[in-house]
Amino acid sequence: MKILVTNDDGIRSKGLRELVKALSAVGSVSVVAPDQERSGMGHAVTMHRPLRAVEISGIAGAVQAFQLDGTPADCVKLAVEVLLEQRPDLVVSGVNAGPNLGTDVLYSGTVSAAVEGIIMGIPAIAVSIADHSEGWLGLDRAVELAARIAQAIWEKGLPEDTLLNVNLPLLPAEEMKGIKVTRVGIRRYRDFVEQRQDPWGRPYYWLTGEAVDLDEGPDSDTRAVKDGWISITPIRFQLTHEEFRDELARWNIE
Ligand code: MN
Repeated sequence: MKILVTNDDGIRSKGLRELVKALSAVGSVSVVAPDQERSGMGHAVTMHRPLRAVEISGIAGAVQAFQLDGTPADCVKLAVEVLLEQRPDLVVSGVNAGPNLGTDVLYSGTVSAAVEGIIMGIPAIAVSIADHSEGWLGLDRAVELAARIAQAIWEKGLPEDTLLNVNLPLLPAEEMKGIKVTRVGIRRYRDFVEQRQDPWGRPYYWLTGEAVDLDEGPDSDTRAVKDGWISITPIRFQLTHEEFRDELARWNIE
């Protein structure tokens, strides 16, 4: 199995390095990842400046590695189109430092890299741990699980256009409750713009805020991770509100 690993925390991230090592036990791993942190980029692509890829060595477990001065989605596009000698069978994105749950999957560079995989017809996994700090709590379990899931996808396959979004709770591995298959919850933010002042008295703004989960159903990804479960959500790229299409047509907008 040929595996492409990418992320949005940058190629130097410990989450990526440990993921590569673990996946090298189940496949041939190549890396194309951003040269610096690109979290919160969503599905952005770079179209108005050139992209530079530099081949690098020293990533244990990788047969080939490139750093790219682009976004996570750029990395997957370039990996598949030009950088890798062979088309990957699987894209694995992560391990992200911080959860990607609920509506955050749309802001997430980690998940968007996996989405780019399925857009290109390649099954994909996004893996995140809840630990935002550099403490990497749960990372060992996350990479071990990523290897198992990769193996399972290799054996069973995934439905077309489907990725798996995996999130681990903020707990030591032995305290995690197990795996729950979930759906995407609804997460919004409260007080998300902080206004501060620069040394010259001019205002600047910092996007921050507290997550508010509006869908706390027992099978939502947000609830599951809060309760100490490992959440796995099958996600596909189908945004159309099918039930509303007929009614919208009856609006008769001319
Ligand atoms: Mn990130």
